[in-house]
Amino acid sequence: MAVKSRRAAAVVDVAGVKVGGNHPIVVQSMTNTDTADVTGTVNQVMALARAGSELVRVTVNTEQAAAAVPKIVDCLDKFGVRVPIIGDFHYNGHILLRKYPECARALSKYRINPGNVNIGKKHDDNFRTMIEAAIEYGRPVRIGVNWGSLDQALLTRMMDENSRLAEPKDAREVTLEAIVVSAVESAAAAEQYGLAHDRIILSAKVSGVQDLVDVYRALAARCDYALHLGLTEAGIGAKGIVATTAGLAILLQEGIGDTIRSSLTPLPNGDRTEEVIVSQQILQSLGIRSFTPQVTACPGCGRTTSTFFQEMADQIQTYLREQMPVWKAKHAGVESMKVAVMGCVVNGPGESKHANLGISLPGTFEEPKAPVFVDGRLVTTLKGDHIVAEFIGMLDEYVATHYAEPVA
Ligand code: SF4
Repeated sequence: MAVKSRRAAAVVDVAGVKVGGNHPIVVQSMTNTDTADVTGTVNQVMALARAGSELVRVTVNTEQAAAAVPKIVDCLDKFGVRVPIIGDFHYNGHILLRKYPECARALSKYRINPGNVNIGKKHDDNFRTMIEAAIEYGRPVRIGVNWGSLDQALLTRMMDENSRLAEPKDAREVTLEAIVVSAVESAAAAEQYGLAHDRIILSAKVSGVQDLVDVYRALAARCDYALHLGLTEAGIGAKGIVATTAGLAILLQEGIGDTIRSSLTPLPNGDRTEEVIVSQQILQSLGIRSFTPQVTACPGCGRTTSTFFQEMADQIQTYLREQMPVWKAKHAGVESMKVAVMGCVVNGPGESKHANLGISLPGTFEEPKAPVFVDGRLVTTLKGDHIVAEFIGMLDEYVATHYAEPVA
């Protein structure tokens, strides 16, 4: 079954990165450094951008953080990193955007959480202040509802109304509906205050996969704003990656979603760029976008009793990813290259023939030689202690000869 064509969404320009319409689905990420720590945040933004993040969000939670934002953007500029920086505001965004105009100017987009911007207030003055800042500085906004901080006044009102119905809906249904209503009504209010329709991106994040699917289907049916997809608080390790993939894949397959983030909890001192790689891999596995050559590797079995085969698959995958920043600039189309690293003669030659370059390693008790296939043809058989280095040399040659350098 093919991916459905994307739903028609308004196109939002985030400092040159187009989100929505038929533009490629944008991968974004968020830092977890203290934004007031300029050096630490710059380093992490650069790592995320280098990994392929096309937008990077930083929290702007304190006066120190707001004061640091222009320095961060300046520093990135000096290093030649042009990734748009988005400010994530909660509770006090209306104060920070007004008190720190340089911060408001340096940011390429503001994320507003309608659930916590007006807490305890009868009117949405704080929300309005933030929208007016966006209009004044010509910035788009993401109205980002999160069920962990859903507008409680709205939810209470909708629960009360529901309880008066002859056949009340269950609490889950009302809560999900309140999330959608919060996003859509906040967007309508923003437009009423003067923000253009194509300056608004919506998100409505929840942490359960089925809830996420229901919420985004409802949101997509009810408006044409560009949508930011993400399973919030997805979790750590395999759980976070699998839950994110499960939720996003269903929606992306239905043509819903214009930008995505994988909200993974890194291990202590873990690599923050994992969330970028997971988002890219979701899009590439679905055949929506290509980012890096893909390695097909068999899982191994009792026919591969040494770890050589796993090590080789890992070394090649790592090599391809590390080479991509260089190759991407020089060799158009290299990101769609397919490489196979197979463990034995059973499926090795067959799978290798389907790849651009494939190697079939010797399984236990097989003759110690590794046939290499290029575009389906057996071209050589590698032997000895330098199989990995020789295969990587062949990869380099294949890239140089098959993916033309762009014409200057
Ligand atoms: S290709 Fe060979 S080593 Fe790999 S899983 Fe299949 S039988 Fe096992």
